[in-house]
Amino acid sequence: MNIQALQQIIDGGENIVFFGGAGVSTESGIPDFRSVDGLYNQKYRYTPETILSHRFFVTHSDAFYDFYRDKMLCLDAKPNKAHLKLAEMERAGKLKAVITQNIDGLHQKAGSKRVYELHGSVHHNICQKCAKSYDAAFILCGEGIPRCSCGGTIKPDVVLYEEPLNDAVVEGAVEAIAAADVLIVGGTSLAVYPAAGLLNYFSGDKLVLINKKRTPYDRRASLVINDSIGEALGRITV
Ligand code: ZN
Repeated sequence: MNIQALQQIIDGGENIVFFGGAGVSTESGIPDFRSVDGLYNQKYRYTPETILSHRFFVTHSDAFYDFYRDKMLCLDAKPNKAHLKLAEMERAGKLKAVITQNIDGLHQKAGSKRVYELHGSVHHNICQKCAKSYDAAFILCGEGIPRCSCGGTIKPDVVLYEEPLNDAVVEGAVEAIAAADVLIVGGTSLAVYPAAGLLNYFSGDKLVLINKKRTPYDRRASLVINDSIGEALGRITV
């Protein structure tokens, strides 16, 4: 692992942006529902892609919430070394934004302030009728379909399949990437929309890819580290 090269790039960066995928969260013990294995299929009659779709939420709300409470609400998870180092880098004025595809809120839990959550957050839950908001504990502790005091159905503010991303969040992420001189991409194979597209807005000269497996963008990067994102960032001195 070329930590020295990573340290040099971070030392030289003035406007660093981090873009993270599922790998950042799996190191905190949160399952990546995209890497489906037999376990899901043994317990659930539908694939995660089906359950986490807008149509399924509308037509099978109770089955959606069974899966969601069981697999998506990992409220005991703790920030790992990657989350903590990124928050430290932001406090030091080096890191300008975190852009994440994860919905667990662990960057904020670690202390990060400017976080663009492309797929929303389990910590925001909205009544579909009156727009009142509820926290994740309210969803976790209830049974069946969570209902607002007005009687409306509460929906997690996470982007389900078939749903568009939030325009304001995407715009913020694009602006942050376009202004960055160093872009660190971690814990993603860059195969999933919109990750690859967002990278095209980067015009800085130092692209760093940290992922356990190779990605299609490795040849464009200044530095590739095929290792754990927590281990790599954890060894950086801010
Ligand atoms: Zn309501």
